[in-house]
Amino acid sequence: MKASAFDYVRPPDLAGVLDMLRQFSGAKLIAGGQSLLPLLNLRLARPTLLIDIGRTEALRAIEDRGTHVRIGAAVTHAELEDCLIPDCPMLRTVAGGIAYRAIRNRGTVGGSLAHADPAADWPLAMAALGATVVVEGKAGHRRLPADGFMLGAFQTRLEEDELVVAVDVPKLSPDARYGYYKFCRKTGEFPEASAAAVFDPFSRTARLYLGALSGPPQPLHDLAATIARQGLAAIADVAIADAVDRVAAGDSIERRMRCAAVTRALKEVFAE
Ligand SMILES: Cc1cc2nc3c(=O)[nH]c(=O)nc-3n(C[C@H](O)[C@H](O)[C@H](O)COP(=O)(O)OP(=O)(O)OC[C@H]3O[C@@H](n4cnc5c(N)ncnc54)[C@H](O)[C@@H]3O)c2cc1C
Repeated sequence: MKASAFDYVRPPDLAGVLDMLRQFSGAKLIAGGQSLLPLLNLRLARPTLLIDIGRTEALRAIEDRGTHVRIGAAVTHAELEDCLIPDCPMLRTVAGGIAYRAIRNRGTVGGSLAHADPAADWPLAMAALGATVVVEGKAGHRRLPADGFMLGAFQTRLEEDELVVAVDVPKLSPDARYGYYKFCRKTGEFPEASAAAVFDPFSRTARLYLGALSGPPQPLHDLAATIARQGLAAIADVAIADAVDRVAAGDSIERRMRCAAVTRALKEVFAE
């Protein structure tokens, strides 16, 4: 199938993008197009206007802001894969595991968060990292925790006239440990189960999330807190299964994959 007819604009700057969003209610943003283009071709999305933000300069920077790193919404997965940010090494790990290079060259962090596919990597990773999504719209500027930004499958807290402009990712201390694990049937496919863990004794952070569910990533707060107190001793199969059962229903295969994803993410945390 072919997409239905639409107009296309590439405003010169962010102010122009916001103006266009305000003026045209049938408009849709396009960043890397890796999710939107298939939806257009299947006519599951029929915008009258596409506003291209893929090259908007204000959305393309990776900046060190002291306590955190600000990643522009239109930064691609490949750019994060190629850029070693010493205080946020998990960004590179996660970026490098998304699909394959051709997708990573185009797909963007902001597009991934806004699209809110439950199996996507950034909603899970950013929740575990304690990141903040920065959005702009008619009502001005809003800062929303990544945990809770996604409301459900393909649903977020973004208003019609808002866009994601950046994500603020807190820096980790040198003693921080993280783990990220996902089960994919083959390279380049979305995962069947995924988990992310971040432990930082300096900031007293203990975050463990389960992803690839039917909705947003789910926190396993109690298990994370117990592991932060007791270390490896708290990582028992029964404790992990109990934590997974509390946040996700599923058949025995889904349950086993989810438990294994959590176990493997935690093993990465404690790897020598
Ligand atoms: C074959 C294939 C395999 C993939 N595998 C994975 C995978 O393993 N893991 C993974 O995480 N992802 C995967 N993806 C998704 C991909 O990595 C992109 O992250 C994703 O397509 C969205 O980014 P994009 O920039 O292409 O967004 P687009 O397709 O341009 O846009 C997607 C949606 O987000 C909106 N949007 C875009 N940018 C913004 C913004 N700044 N503010 C508000 N709304 C915005 C658009 O209007 C649209 O509704 C895969 C994609 C393909 C095609």
